[in-house]
Amino acid sequence: MIMQTTLTDSVEEAAAILNSGGVVAFPTETVYGLGAGICHSEALLKLFRAKGRPSDNPLIVHIGSIGQVAEVAAEVNVQAERLIESFFPGPLTLVLKKNPSVPYSVTAGLETVGVRCPANPIAREFLRLACCPVAAPSANLSGLPSATSWEAVYEDLAGKIDCLLRGKPSTIGLESTIVDCSGTKPILLRAGAITLEQLREVVPEITTIAVSEAEERPKCPGLKYPHYAPRASIVLCTEVEKIDLKESSAAYIGMSEPPQGIFLHKVCLTLEEYGRELFGFFRLCDTEGIGVIYCELPSDEGLGRAIRDRLMRAAGLA
Ligand code: AMP
Ligand code: MG
Repeated sequence: MIMQTTLTDSVEEAAAILNSGGVVAFPTETVYGLGAGICHSEALLKLFRAKGRPSDNPLIVHIGSIGQVAEVAAEVNVQAERLIESFFPGPLTLVLKKNPSVPYSVTAGLETVGVRCPANPIAREFLRLACCPVAAPSANLSGLPSATSWEAVYEDLAGKIDCLLRGKPSTIGLESTIVDCSGTKPILLRAGAITLEQLREVVPEITTIAVSEAEERPKCPGLKYPHYAPRASIVLCTEVEKIDLKESSAAYIGMSEPPQGIFLHKVCLTLEEYGRELFGFFRLCDTEGIGVIYCELPSDEGLGRAIRDRLMRAAGLA
């Protein structure tokens, strides 16, 4: 079904469309989100359909203020409290026991819910004007790289959603860090801009899980699906100087100097820039008809862990 997508810069207009049961894409500091009010069951269905998202992949519920955590979660343990105090609002999602008011269509039948309070001022104003908390996955077609600009959202979802609230490009460019605080031991489920090192300063007992284990865990169903993949194939490399170009239509992204003869490249000066530019570069490569993208794998430290994770998934290796 093709629908009219309202393009707007007005937070009030976007919130009014959401509040009348619409599906609305909006900017956040991580990536653009595709929102539906958790009190609008039809909108939630429409959201899964627009993205082509499997219904067993739960949605993160977004709130405009820390005070709203209690509207979404049934229980906040001490570790979760500490993480909220340190990192909310910001690029962190906590998995908590769900409040009965959150429908199972949002949590994919789980008794837990992912909760995030974004820091982006436009997102916060939008969420403040929303009549209920807003379930929002990334605003891209399922499987493709997340959208980090309104133009990328438009490319994927125009004609499939009710409204696109235009904002600036996402400053982080990688999806939120996810920590499961619903059990006795907090577990890092997805790396993001809040690094494992930062989390451990506040809650030292946080553990990580191997990807193979994550796939089996019904607790984090989304991790089993392919993610972030451009049409071009991804080749991961640690020693850029040894790249032997076999294709004329090759591209490169990383922090080292690009290999000789590369058609398109992006050299990033910092890990922050690498994270911010990654998905936009993947999309640019597809527009340019690139066959292979060589990506330099950063080390596992700090933000490198999140970039590595996205690169491995894009390459189909995780
Ligand atoms: P996206 O919004 O597209 O970044 O995807 C949201 C991610 O959050 C998915 O990988 C989900 O598996 C994960 N997620 C959301 N809610 C939960 C939950 N209750 N338990 C575990 N993982 C969750
Ligand atoms: Mg996503």
